[in-house]
Amino acid sequence: MKTAPVVFNNTVLRDGHQSLAATRMTTAQMLPACAELDSLGFGALETWGGATIDSCLRFLGENPFERLGTLKQAAPKTPQMMLLRGQNIVQYTSFPDDVVEAFVAATAARGLDIFRVFDALNDIRNLRTAIKAVKKAGKHAQGTICYTLSPVHTVANFLTLAEDIAALGVDSICIKDMAGLIQPEIARALVTGIKERTKLPVVLHSHDTAGLAAASYHAATQAGVDWIDTSIAPFANGTGQPDTLRMLAVLEGLDRCPSYDRTKLVALGKHFEKVYAELGKFTSPANEKTDTATLVYQVPGGMLSNFRNQLKEQKMDGQLEQVLAEIPYVRECLGWIPLVTPTSQIVGTQAMLNVKFGRWKNIAQPTADVLLGKYGRTPGPVYADLLHHVEKQSGLKRSEERQADLLPPRLPKLKEELRAKGFPDTDEMAVLHAMFPQELDKLLKPAPAPAPAAPVAITTPASAPVAAPPPAGSATHYALTVEGRTYGIDVQELQS
Ligand code: MN
Repeated sequence: MKTAPVVFNNTVLRDGHQSLAATRMTTAQMLPACAELDSLGFGALETWGGATIDSCLRFLGENPFERLGTLKQAAPKTPQMMLLRGQNIVQYTSFPDDVVEAFVAATAARGLDIFRVFDALNDIRNLRTAIKAVKKAGKHAQGTICYTLSPVHTVANFLTLAEDIAALGVDSICIKDMAGLIQPEIARALVTGIKERTKLPVVLHSHDTAGLAAASYHAATQAGVDWIDTSIAPFANGTGQPDTLRMLAVLEGLDRCPSYDRTKLVALGKHFEKVYAELGKFTSPANEKTDTATLVYQVPGGMLSNFRNQLKEQKMDGQLEQVLAEIPYVRECLGWIPLVTPTSQIVGTQAMLNVKFGRWKNIAQPTADVLLGKYGRTPGPVYADLLHHVEKQSGLKRSEERQADLLPPRLPKLKEELRAKGFPDTDEMAVLHAMFPQELDKLLKPAPAPAPAAPVAITTPASAPVAAPPPAGSATHYALTVEGRTYGIDVQELQS
Protein backbone atom coordinates (compact mmCIF):
# COMPACT_ATOMS: atom_id res chain seq x y z
CA MET A 1 0.00 0.00 0.00
CA LYS A 2 1.24 3.43 -0.92
CA THR A 3 2.26 5.55 2.05
CA ALA A 4 3.64 8.72 0.43
CA PRO A 5 1.20 11.64 0.58
CA VAL A 6 -1.29 11.90 -2.25
CA VAL A 7 -0.28 14.67 -4.67
CA PHE A 8 -2.73 17.37 -5.73
CA ASN A 9 -2.83 18.64 -9.28
CA ASN A 10 -4.44 22.02 -9.79
CA THR A 11 -7.00 22.66 -12.50
CA VAL A 12 -7.96 26.29 -11.89
CA LEU A 13 -6.36 27.48 -15.14
CA ARG A 14 -8.23 24.96 -17.30
CA ASP A 15 -11.07 22.81 -16.01
CA GLY A 16 -11.86 25.21 -13.15
CA HIS A 17 -12.95 28.02 -15.45
CA GLN A 18 -14.14 25.68 -18.20
CA SER A 19 -16.62 24.14 -15.77
CA LEU A 20 -17.67 27.30 -13.97
CA ALA A 21 -17.11 30.22 -16.33
CA ALA A 22 -17.49 28.88 -19.89
CA THR A 23 -13.67 28.79 -20.36
CA ARG A 24 -13.45 32.57 -20.45
CA MET A 25 -10.47 33.22 -18.15
CA THR A 26 -7.87 35.26 -20.02
CA THR A 27 -4.11 34.88 -19.80
CA ALA A 28 -3.99 38.33 -18.20
CA GLN A 29 -6.33 37.10 -15.45
CA MET A 30 -4.13 34.03 -14.89
CA LEU A 31 -0.72 35.66 -14.78
CA PRO A 32 -0.93 37.37 -11.35
CA ALA A 33 -1.57 33.91 -9.81
CA CYS A 34 1.15 31.97 -11.61
CA ALA A 35 4.12 32.52 -9.29
CA GLU A 36 2.05 31.57 -6.25
CA LEU A 37 0.54 28.53 -7.99
CA ASP A 38 4.02 27.48 -9.07
CA SER A 39 5.38 27.79 -5.53
CA LEU A 40 2.84 25.46 -3.90
CA GLY A 41 4.37 22.21 -5.16
CA PHE A 42 1.37 20.83 -7.02
CA GLY A 43 1.97 17.68 -9.06
CA ALA A 44 0.85 19.50 -12.19
CA LEU A 45 -0.93 22.64 -13.26
CA GLU A 46 -3.57 21.92 -15.84
CA THR A 47 -3.25 24.94 -18.09
CA TRP A 48 -4.19 23.96 -21.61
CA GLY A 49 -6.33 21.83 -23.88
CA GLY A 50 -9.98 20.96 -23.49
CA ALA A 51 -11.95 23.98 -24.63
CA THR A 52 -9.24 26.55 -23.84
CA ILE A 53 -7.75 26.58 -27.32
CA ASP A 54 -11.11 27.09 -28.95
CA SER A 55 -11.99 29.79 -26.42
CA CYS A 56 -8.68 31.64 -26.91
CA LEU A 57 -9.32 31.90 -30.63
CA ARG A 58 -13.06 32.33 -30.67
CA PHE A 59 -13.73 34.62 -27.74
CA LEU A 60 -10.52 36.01 -26.31
CA GLY A 61 -8.48 36.98 -29.36
CA GLU A 62 -5.49 35.10 -27.98
CA ASN A 63 -3.01 32.83 -29.71
CA PRO A 64 -3.32 29.65 -27.62
CA PHE A 65 0.28 28.59 -28.22
CA GLU A 66 1.45 31.97 -26.97
CA ARG A 67 -0.68 31.48 -23.86
CA LEU A 68 1.06 28.17 -23.25
CA GLY A 69 4.50 29.71 -23.68
CA THR A 70 3.60 32.60 -21.38
CA LEU A 71 2.21 30.32 -18.65
CA LYS A 72 5.23 28.08 -18.91
CA GLN A 73 7.48 31.09 -18.30
CA ALA A 74 5.34 32.33 -15.45
CA ALA A 75 5.21 28.92 -13.73
CA PRO A 76 8.38 27.11 -14.81
CA LYS A 77 8.82 24.72 -11.88
CA THR A 78 5.54 22.80 -11.93
CA PRO A 79 4.81 20.37 -14.78
CA GLN A 80 2.06 21.71 -17.03
CA MET A 81 -0.68 19.42 -18.19
CA MET A 82 -3.22 19.45 -20.99
CA LEU A 83 -6.35 17.54 -21.91
CA LEU A 84 -6.09 16.06 -25.40
CA ARG A 85 -9.01 14.40 -27.18
CA GLY A 86 -6.91 11.74 -28.91
CA GLN A 87 -7.51 11.70 -32.64
CA ASN A 88 -9.89 14.68 -32.29
CA ILE A 89 -7.02 16.78 -30.80
CA VAL A 90 -9.13 19.59 -29.29
CA GLN A 91 -11.93 19.43 -31.80
CA TYR A 92 -14.91 17.25 -32.49
CA THR A 93 -13.94 15.00 -35.39
CA SER A 94 -11.01 12.80 -36.36
CA PHE A 95 -7.86 14.35 -37.81
CA PRO A 96 -5.22 12.54 -39.86
CA ASP A 97 -2.26 11.11 -37.97
CA ASP A 98 0.18 13.68 -39.36
CA VAL A 99 -1.90 16.55 -37.92
CA VAL A 100 -2.11 14.85 -34.51
CA GLU A 101 1.65 14.26 -34.54
CA ALA A 102 2.39 17.87 -35.51
CA PHE A 103 0.08 19.15 -32.78
CA VAL A 104 1.79 17.08 -30.08
CA ALA A 105 5.28 18.02 -31.27
CA ALA A 106 4.44 21.74 -31.41
CA THR A 107 2.83 21.61 -27.96
CA ALA A 108 5.78 19.75 -26.47
CA ALA A 109 8.12 22.32 -28.01
CA ARG A 110 6.23 25.07 -26.12
CA GLY A 111 7.00 23.24 -22.90
CA LEU A 112 3.91 21.23 -22.08
CA ASP A 113 4.88 18.27 -19.90
CA ILE A 114 1.93 15.95 -19.29
CA PHE A 115 -0.50 14.99 -22.03
CA ARG A 116 -3.73 13.51 -20.71
CA VAL A 117 -5.11 11.69 -23.72
CA PHE A 118 -8.66 10.41 -23.91
CA ASP A 119 -11.18 9.17 -26.40
CA ALA A 120 -14.86 9.86 -25.85
CA LEU A 121 -15.82 6.28 -26.70
CA ASN A 122 -12.84 4.72 -24.89
CA ASP A 123 -11.81 3.33 -28.28
CA ILE A 124 -8.08 2.89 -27.74
CA ARG A 125 -7.42 2.97 -31.48
CA ASN A 126 -8.02 6.71 -31.15
CA LEU A 127 -5.37 7.10 -28.41
CA ARG A 128 -2.48 5.32 -30.07
CA THR A 129 -1.14 8.00 -32.42
CA ALA A 130 -1.22 10.77 -29.82
CA ILE A 131 0.45 8.61 -27.16
CA LYS A 132 3.20 7.54 -29.55
CA ALA A 133 3.80 11.18 -30.47
CA VAL A 134 4.00 12.21 -26.80
CA LYS A 135 6.56 9.51 -26.10
CA LYS A 136 8.53 10.53 -29.19
CA ALA A 137 8.66 14.10 -27.84
CA GLY A 138 10.03 12.74 -24.54
CA LYS A 139 6.99 13.84 -22.55
CA HIS A 140 4.63 12.18 -20.05
CA ALA A 141 1.78 10.28 -21.72
CA GLN A 142 -1.21 9.81 -19.46
CA GLY A 143 -3.75 7.34 -20.84
CA THR A 144 -7.31 8.02 -19.84
CA ILE A 145 -10.38 6.02 -18.99
CA CYS A 146 -13.61 7.97 -19.40
CA TYR A 147 -15.76 6.89 -16.50
CA THR A 148 -19.46 6.59 -16.97
CA LEU A 149 -22.41 4.56 -15.75
CA SER A 150 -24.20 2.03 -17.94
CA PRO A 151 -24.89 -1.70 -18.06
CA VAL A 152 -21.72 -2.17 -20.15
CA HIS A 153 -19.47 0.01 -17.93
CA THR A 154 -18.60 -2.43 -15.16
CA VAL A 155 -15.52 -2.32 -12.94
CA ALA A 156 -14.30 -5.52 -14.65
CA ASN A 157 -14.61 -3.89 -18.11
CA PHE A 158 -12.81 -0.75 -16.94
CA LEU A 159 -9.93 -2.83 -15.57
CA THR A 160 -9.57 -4.61 -18.91
CA LEU A 161 -9.58 -1.22 -20.60
CA ALA A 162 -6.84 -0.03 -18.21
CA GLU A 163 -4.69 -3.00 -19.21
CA ASP A 164 -5.24 -2.24 -22.89
CA ILE A 165 -4.25 1.39 -22.31
CA ALA A 166 -1.18 0.35 -20.31
CA ALA A 167 -0.12 -1.78 -23.27
CA LEU A 168 0.09 1.41 -25.37
CA GLY A 169 3.15 2.40 -23.31
CA VAL A 170 1.66 5.18 -21.18
CA ASP A 171 3.39 6.62 -18.10
CA SER A 172 0.25 6.82 -15.96
CA ILE A 173 -3.48 6.27 -16.09
CA CYS A 174 -6.21 8.79 -15.39
CA ILE A 175 -9.70 7.87 -14.31
CA LYS A 176 -11.57 10.77 -15.85
CA ASP A 177 -14.93 11.20 -14.18
CA MET A 178 -16.08 14.15 -16.24
CA ALA A 179 -19.67 14.08 -14.98
CA GLY A 180 -18.91 13.60 -11.29
CA LEU A 181 -20.60 10.21 -11.18
CA ILE A 182 -17.95 8.10 -9.50
CA GLN A 183 -18.90 6.86 -6.05
CA PRO A 184 -16.36 6.28 -3.28
CA GLU A 185 -16.43 2.48 -3.32
CA ILE A 186 -16.19 2.37 -7.12
CA ALA A 187 -13.23 4.76 -6.98
CA ARG A 188 -11.60 2.51 -4.39
CA ALA A 189 -12.16 -0.61 -6.52
CA LEU A 190 -10.90 1.02 -9.72
CA VAL A 191 -7.78 2.54 -8.15
CA THR A 192 -6.91 -0.73 -6.41
CA GLY A 193 -7.57 -2.80 -9.51
CA ILE A 194 -5.75 -0.54 -11.98
CA LYS A 195 -2.68 -0.27 -9.76
CA GLU A 196 -2.60 -4.04 -9.26
CA ARG A 197 -3.03 -4.86 -12.91
CA THR A 198 -0.87 -2.18 -14.54
CA LYS A 199 1.63 -1.14 -11.81
CA LEU A 200 1.25 2.39 -13.18
CA PRO A 201 0.62 5.60 -11.21
CA VAL A 202 -3.07 6.53 -11.21
CA VAL A 203 -4.79 9.91 -11.07
CA LEU A 204 -8.45 10.44 -10.24
CA HIS A 205 -10.14 13.39 -11.94
CA SER A 206 -13.67 14.11 -10.82
CA HIS A 207 -16.24 16.89 -10.60
CA ASP A 208 -18.27 17.84 -7.59
CA THR A 209 -21.46 18.21 -9.61
CA ALA A 210 -23.34 15.66 -7.50
CA GLY A 211 -21.35 16.27 -4.34
CA LEU A 212 -19.46 12.96 -4.57
CA ALA A 213 -15.95 14.02 -5.58
CA ALA A 214 -14.46 14.77 -2.17
CA ALA A 215 -15.66 11.46 -0.73
CA SER A 216 -14.41 9.58 -3.78
CA TYR A 217 -11.02 11.31 -3.56
CA HIS A 218 -10.88 10.25 0.10
CA ALA A 219 -11.57 6.61 -0.79
CA ALA A 220 -9.12 6.74 -3.71
CA THR A 221 -6.45 8.16 -1.41
CA GLN A 222 -6.94 5.26 0.98
CA ALA A 223 -6.66 2.90 -2.00
CA GLY A 224 -3.31 4.41 -3.01
CA VAL A 225 -4.19 6.83 -5.80
CA ASP A 226 -1.11 8.86 -6.75
CA TRP A 227 -2.70 12.16 -7.78
CA ILE A 228 -6.06 13.84 -7.44
CA ASP A 229 -7.24 16.94 -9.30
CA THR A 230 -8.35 19.91 -7.23
CA SER A 231 -9.02 23.55 -8.03
CA ILE A 232 -9.28 26.89 -6.28
CA ALA A 233 -12.60 28.40 -5.29
CA PRO A 234 -14.64 29.99 -6.69
CA PHE A 235 -13.49 28.14 -9.82
CA ALA A 236 -14.06 24.94 -7.85
CA ASN A 237 -16.79 22.76 -6.34
CA GLY A 238 -20.19 22.51 -8.00
CA THR A 239 -19.57 21.52 -11.60
CA GLY A 240 -15.81 21.93 -11.04
CA GLN A 241 -13.19 20.05 -9.01
CA PRO A 242 -13.27 20.16 -5.20
CA ASP A 243 -11.28 23.12 -3.95
CA THR A 244 -7.84 22.50 -2.54
CA LEU A 245 -8.51 23.85 0.95
CA ARG A 246 -11.63 21.78 1.34
CA MET A 247 -9.84 18.68 0.09
CA LEU A 248 -7.06 19.18 2.62
CA ALA A 249 -9.66 19.27 5.36
CA VAL A 250 -11.36 16.14 4.04
CA LEU A 251 -8.10 14.16 4.05
CA GLU A 252 -6.82 15.46 7.37
CA GLY A 253 -6.03 12.60 9.71
CA LEU A 254 -5.13 10.17 6.93
CA ASP A 255 -1.47 9.10 6.77
CA ARG A 256 -1.44 10.18 3.15
CA CYS A 257 -2.82 13.70 3.71
CA PRO A 258 -0.46 16.10 1.92
CA SER A 259 0.56 19.52 3.08
CA TYR A 260 0.00 22.65 1.01
CA ASP A 261 0.49 26.19 2.28
CA ARG A 262 -2.96 27.31 3.43
CA THR A 263 -1.99 30.98 3.65
CA LYS A 264 -0.96 31.00 0.00
CA LEU A 265 -4.11 29.13 -0.95
CA VAL A 266 -6.25 31.74 0.81
CA ALA A 267 -4.38 34.52 -1.03
CA LEU A 268 -4.93 32.75 -4.34
CA GLY A 269 -8.61 32.41 -3.50
CA LYS A 270 -8.80 36.21 -3.10
CA HIS A 271 -7.31 36.72 -6.55
CA PHE A 272 -9.69 34.24 -8.16
CA GLU A 273 -12.69 35.79 -6.35
CA LYS A 274 -11.89 38.98 -8.21
CA VAL A 275 -11.54 37.17 -11.54
CA TYR A 276 -14.79 35.31 -10.92
CA ALA A 277 -16.57 38.61 -10.46
CA GLU A 278 -15.02 39.94 -13.68
CA LEU A 279 -16.38 36.89 -15.51
CA GLY A 280 -19.85 37.37 -14.03
CA LYS A 281 -21.48 37.23 -17.45
CA PHE A 282 -20.33 33.65 -17.86
CA THR A 283 -20.92 32.27 -14.39
CA SER A 284 -24.17 30.87 -13.04
CA PRO A 285 -25.41 29.96 -9.57
CA ALA A 286 -26.78 26.75 -11.12
CA ASN A 287 -23.20 25.57 -11.67
CA GLU A 288 -22.19 26.27 -8.11
CA LYS A 289 -24.71 24.09 -6.35
CA THR A 290 -24.72 20.36 -5.68
CA ASP A 291 -27.11 18.76 -8.10
CA THR A 292 -27.94 15.11 -7.58
CA ALA A 293 -30.01 15.12 -10.77
CA THR A 294 -26.69 14.61 -12.53
CA LEU A 295 -26.63 11.07 -11.11
CA VAL A 296 -29.68 10.33 -13.21
CA TYR A 297 -28.88 12.38 -16.31
CA GLN A 298 -25.08 11.94 -16.27
CA VAL A 299 -24.43 15.31 -17.81
CA PRO A 300 -20.85 16.57 -17.37
CA GLY A 301 -20.34 19.87 -15.58
CA GLY A 302 -19.06 21.78 -18.60
CA MET A 303 -21.99 20.57 -20.64
CA LEU A 304 -24.66 21.31 -18.06
CA SER A 305 -23.68 24.97 -17.81
CA ASN A 306 -23.70 25.52 -21.56
CA PHE A 307 -26.78 23.38 -22.04
CA ARG A 308 -28.90 25.64 -19.86
CA ASN A 309 -27.90 28.59 -22.03
CA GLN A 310 -28.45 26.68 -25.23
CA LEU A 311 -31.99 25.73 -24.30
CA LYS A 312 -32.72 29.29 -23.27
CA GLU A 313 -31.49 30.53 -26.64
CA GLN A 314 -33.90 28.14 -28.33
CA LYS A 315 -36.74 29.17 -26.07
CA MET A 316 -36.76 25.63 -24.64
CA ASP A 317 -35.67 26.53 -21.12
CA GLY A 318 -38.99 25.29 -19.78
CA GLN A 319 -38.16 21.87 -21.23
CA LEU A 320 -34.80 21.33 -19.52
CA GLU A 321 -36.15 18.46 -17.43
CA GLN A 322 -37.61 16.71 -20.45
CA VAL A 323 -34.43 17.07 -22.46
CA LEU A 324 -32.30 15.81 -19.56
CA ALA A 325 -34.65 12.84 -19.13
CA GLU A 326 -34.24 12.00 -22.83
CA ILE A 327 -30.45 11.81 -22.55
CA PRO A 328 -30.15 8.29 -21.04
CA TYR A 329 -32.49 6.95 -23.72
CA VAL A 330 -30.44 8.52 -26.54
CA ARG A 331 -27.28 7.12 -24.96
CA GLU A 332 -28.70 3.63 -24.86
CA CYS A 333 -29.67 3.84 -28.54
CA LEU A 334 -26.14 5.00 -29.38
CA GLY A 335 -24.42 2.06 -27.64
CA TRP A 336 -24.11 3.62 -24.17
CA ILE A 337 -21.49 6.14 -25.24
CA PRO A 338 -19.97 8.13 -22.35
CA LEU A 339 -20.88 11.80 -22.15
CA VAL A 340 -17.77 13.84 -22.74
CA THR A 341 -16.75 16.21 -25.50
CA PRO A 342 -17.78 15.63 -28.26
CA THR A 343 -20.29 12.89 -27.42
CA SER A 344 -21.92 15.00 -24.72
CA GLN A 345 -22.80 17.60 -27.34
CA ILE A 346 -24.00 14.95 -29.78
CA VAL A 347 -26.25 13.23 -27.26
CA GLY A 348 -27.44 16.52 -25.79
CA THR A 349 -28.31 17.94 -29.18
CA GLN A 350 -30.13 14.79 -30.25
CA ALA A 351 -32.05 14.66 -26.98
CA MET A 352 -33.11 18.24 -27.63
CA LEU A 353 -34.20 17.42 -31.19
CA ASN A 354 -36.12 14.38 -29.93
CA VAL A 355 -38.00 16.54 -27.45
CA LYS A 356 -38.57 19.38 -29.91
CA PHE A 357 -39.68 17.34 -32.92
CA GLY A 358 -40.48 13.86 -31.52
CA ARG A 359 -38.17 10.87 -31.12
CA TRP A 360 -35.94 10.36 -34.17
CA LYS A 361 -38.11 12.58 -36.32
CA ASN A 362 -34.96 14.56 -36.93
CA ILE A 363 -31.56 12.93 -36.77
CA ALA A 364 -28.61 15.27 -36.55
CA GLN A 365 -25.63 14.43 -38.72
CA PRO A 366 -23.27 13.78 -35.77
CA THR A 367 -25.81 11.29 -34.35
CA ALA A 368 -25.88 9.49 -37.68
CA ASP A 369 -22.08 9.51 -37.67
CA VAL A 370 -21.95 7.79 -34.26
CA LEU A 371 -24.30 5.11 -35.57
CA LEU A 372 -22.19 4.73 -38.72
CA GLY A 373 -19.02 4.15 -36.69
CA LYS A 374 -17.39 7.45 -37.62
CA TYR A 375 -16.36 8.21 -34.03
CA GLY A 376 -15.10 4.69 -33.34
CA ARG A 377 -16.42 1.59 -31.62
CA THR A 378 -19.30 2.23 -29.26
CA PRO A 379 -19.08 0.56 -25.84
CA GLY A 380 -22.30 -1.39 -26.44
CA PRO A 381 -24.27 -2.21 -29.57
CA VAL A 382 -26.28 0.60 -31.16
CA TYR A 383 -30.00 0.14 -31.76
CA ALA A 384 -30.28 -1.98 -34.88
CA ASP A 385 -33.46 -0.39 -36.22
CA LEU A 386 -32.07 3.08 -35.88
CA LEU A 387 -28.83 2.06 -37.57
CA HIS A 388 -30.70 0.45 -40.46
CA HIS A 389 -32.76 3.56 -40.88
CA VAL A 390 -29.68 5.78 -41.01
CA GLU A 391 -27.88 3.37 -43.35
CA LYS A 392 -30.84 3.41 -45.68
CA GLN A 393 -31.15 7.20 -45.62
CA SER A 394 -27.46 7.92 -46.06
CA GLY A 395 -26.68 5.09 -48.44
CA LEU A 396 -23.69 4.30 -46.19
CA LYS A 397 -22.83 1.17 -44.22
CA ARG A 398 -21.53 1.19 -40.66
CA SER A 399 -17.73 1.31 -40.71
CA GLU A 400 -15.60 -0.81 -38.38
CA GLU A 401 -12.32 0.84 -39.36
CA ARG A 402 -10.32 3.36 -37.34
CA GLN A 403 -11.53 6.52 -39.02
CA ALA A 404 -8.13 8.18 -39.14
CA ASP A 405 -6.95 5.28 -41.32
CA LEU A 406 -9.30 6.63 -43.98
CA LEU A 407 -7.84 10.14 -43.84
CA PRO A 408 -4.88 11.05 -46.08
CA PRO A 409 -2.03 13.16 -44.64
CA ARG A 410 -3.02 16.82 -44.55
CA LEU A 411 -0.11 18.82 -43.19
CA PRO A 412 1.49 19.84 -46.53
CA LYS A 413 -1.86 21.04 -47.84
CA LEU A 414 -2.58 22.99 -44.64
CA LYS A 415 0.74 24.80 -44.95
CA GLU A 416 0.10 25.56 -48.58
CA GLU A 417 -3.23 27.11 -47.61
CA LEU A 418 -1.52 29.21 -44.92
CA ARG A 419 1.05 30.50 -47.40
CA ALA A 420 -1.72 31.38 -49.84
CA LYS A 421 -3.29 33.52 -47.12
CA GLY A 422 0.02 35.14 -46.32
CA PHE A 423 0.14 33.53 -42.85
CA PRO A 424 3.20 31.85 -41.29
CA ASP A 425 3.32 28.17 -42.31
CA THR A 426 4.55 26.80 -38.98
CA ASP A 427 3.26 23.56 -37.45
CA GLU A 428 1.47 25.62 -34.77
CA MET A 429 -0.42 27.60 -37.38
CA ALA A 430 -1.09 24.49 -39.47
CA VAL A 431 -2.77 22.59 -36.63
CA LEU A 432 -4.82 25.63 -35.61
CA HIS A 433 -5.81 26.14 -39.23
CA ALA A 434 -6.86 22.47 -39.42
CA MET A 435 -9.13 22.79 -36.40
CA PHE A 436 -10.27 26.43 -36.34
CA PRO A 437 -9.83 27.88 -39.83
CA GLN A 438 -12.21 30.83 -39.49
CA GLU A 439 -11.13 31.70 -35.98
CA LEU A 440 -7.47 31.66 -36.99
CA ASP A 441 -8.25 33.95 -39.91
CA LYS A 442 -9.92 36.32 -37.48
CA LEU A 443 -6.94 36.22 -35.13
CA LEU A 444 -4.31 36.81 -37.78
CA LYS A 445 -6.24 39.23 -39.94
CA PRO A 446 -8.68 41.11 -37.74
CA ALA A 447 -11.46 42.64 -39.76
CA PRO A 448 -11.50 46.48 -39.62
CA ALA A 449 -15.09 46.59 -38.40
CA PRO A 450 -16.17 43.14 -37.32
CA ALA A 451 -19.90 42.54 -37.28
CA PRO A 452 -21.01 41.52 -33.82
CA ALA A 453 -21.43 37.75 -33.78
CA ALA A 454 -24.80 36.98 -32.29
CA PRO A 455 -24.83 33.97 -29.96
CA VAL A 456 -27.40 32.26 -32.10
CA ALA A 457 -28.63 28.84 -31.11
CA ILE A 458 -30.55 27.64 -34.13
CA THR A 459 -30.59 29.66 -37.30
CA THR A 460 -31.40 28.84 -40.86
CA PRO A 461 -29.34 28.87 -42.94
CA ALA A 462 -26.09 28.15 -41.14
CA SER A 463 -23.41 30.78 -41.09
CA ALA A 464 -20.86 28.21 -39.91
CA PRO A 465 -18.78 25.78 -41.91
CA VAL A 466 -20.25 22.34 -42.17
CA ALA A 467 -18.20 19.31 -41.18
CA ALA A 468 -19.92 16.98 -43.60
CA PRO A 469 -21.37 17.84 -46.99
CA PRO A 470 -25.09 18.45 -46.73
CA PRO A 471 -26.98 15.40 -47.91
CA ALA A 472 -29.38 15.67 -50.79
CA GLY A 473 -33.07 15.56 -50.13
CA SER A 474 -35.25 17.35 -47.67
CA ALA A 475 -32.58 18.14 -45.09
CA THR A 476 -32.84 21.39 -43.19
CA HIS A 477 -29.61 23.05 -42.20
CA TYR A 478 -29.02 24.48 -38.75
CA ALA A 479 -26.16 26.12 -36.97
CA LEU A 480 -26.14 25.01 -33.39
CA THR A 481 -23.91 26.53 -30.73
CA VAL A 482 -22.82 24.11 -28.03
CA GLU A 483 -20.02 24.81 -25.54
CA GLY A 484 -19.11 27.85 -27.54
CA ARG A 485 -18.63 25.88 -30.72
CA THR A 486 -20.91 26.15 -33.70
CA TYR A 487 -22.03 22.94 -35.30
CA GLY A 488 -23.39 22.73 -38.79
CA ILE A 489 -26.17 20.22 -38.55
CA ASP A 490 -28.32 18.72 -41.25
CA VAL A 491 -31.61 17.62 -39.88
CA GLN A 492 -33.47 15.11 -41.99
CA GLU A 493 -37.11 14.21 -41.87
CA LEU A 494 -37.54 10.62 -40.78
CA GLN A 495 -39.60 8.60 -43.21
CA SER A 496 -41.73 6.19 -41.27
MN1 MN B 1 -13.08 17.54 -16.15
